[in-house]
Amino acid sequence: MFQENNPALTSWLDVPENNDFPIQNLPFGIAKYEKGPLLSKRPGYQAVSIIGDNVIGLAVLHELDYFRDIQLPEGIFEKEYLNEFIDLGQPVWRAVRKRLSELLRKDNHELCNNKEALKRCLYNVHDVVLTLPVKIGDYTDFYSSREHATNVGSMFRDPKNALMPNWLHLPVAYHGRASSIFVSGANFHRPKGQMLLPGTTDKPVFGETKALDFELEMAFVIGKSTKPGESVSTHDARKHIFGFTLFNDWSARDIQRWEYVPLGPFLGKNFASTMSPWIVTLDALEPFITTAPKQEPDVLPYLRRPDSNGAFDINLEVWLQTTGKEETKICMSNFKYMYWTIDQQLSHHTINGCNINIGDLMASGTISGPTPDSYGSMLELTWNGSKPLILPGGLQRKFLEDGDKVIIRGYSQKDGLRIGFGEAKAIVLPAV
Ligand code: CA
Repeated sequence: MFQENNPALTSWLDVPENNDFPIQNLPFGIAKYEKGPLLSKRPGYQAVSIIGDNVIGLAVLHELDYFRDIQLPEGIFEKEYLNEFIDLGQPVWRAVRKRLSELLRKDNHELCNNKEALKRCLYNVHDVVLTLPVKIGDYTDFYSSREHATNVGSMFRDPKNALMPNWLHLPVAYHGRASSIFVSGANFHRPKGQMLLPGTTDKPVFGETKALDFELEMAFVIGKSTKPGESVSTHDARKHIFGFTLFNDWSARDIQRWEYVPLGPFLGKNFASTMSPWIVTLDALEPFITTAPKQEPDVLPYLRRPDSNGAFDINLEVWLQTTGKEETKICMSNFKYMYWTIDQQLSHHTINGCNINIGDLMASGTISGPTPDSYGSMLELTWNGSKPLILPGGLQRKFLEDGDKVIIRGYSQKDGLRIGFGEAKAIVLPAV
């Protein structure tokens, strides 16, 4: 176990109960600032971490020489994205998280007693603008929940043959669009496109989607690149992963249904995706590694898991807030349900020699569980609109309407330790 993950550690900074960001988490993000007392001296960007409701400016700590024992280039924490920091390698990210943990511990007074430093490096999370933490070169979306693939296959094709013949043999995925991945809080407009009217099979119409949906997902950020021709084994996969975020792969089901054969999703997906601003490191999630679902039939040798512990126990929730109303929890799932593990996903992605780069994003696919309240999309929760969700006050939803806000939350919890992810949220704006 990493010393930083010890549940007994506490900080001199206050962390409210059930907060996502105790001293054992210390995720990485990027804050943008224009002027005023925030952050370091010049306007721009700063790499940050968070404990409780306190955002910590890493550029200021670096400038004040608190990272003196770590080899860090000047200005490394004043970039628009974390990519160059991630490129320094796993030993460096680990050293920075370890040092932060030391500085924040209850019995450490180096930073706690330096009032001038605190004034410059600590900010309330509500005063900080968090931006997209990584420059995403490429984005791949897997389709790795057996329950989700079975549900969608049943609705879109045939309940008796819901899974395609390849599904149990390889982690199916499509290459998505990186340009439209937005940070939490960035709202987007309802997309338009081609779709079939109900009851027709070959005469499409053009218009606003009438079946806008969310997809409850997680995504991992690549932390170590490969060269063309190289492959990553399931055994080495985690050495290439920096950390995890929450992810929403917004989907227009009517557009998707008409366009997806034979090459897969296109305009039904690429108008917007939302990710949470904090990247929780794989190290912080180590206590929550758990047994992955058994695979039957056996997979090909290159996809064999290094051991049975390939899943992560991360509770996931989707909340829906309609205009002027309270948030309502509409789904509870868990990342551990995924049939294909992240090790298998990355190994499959690179087995043909496809090179990966730092900052690439690999999303899990919709994470549905075995019970109807654990389905990770409106498509499944309402069974393609046939069983509308009944919200408090009697409001009904088959799919999302303009003004609806969807919030994804996630956290791991065990032995008094809670490691959370914050939120990935956005509001559906009317079509333009
Ligand atoms: Ca998806």
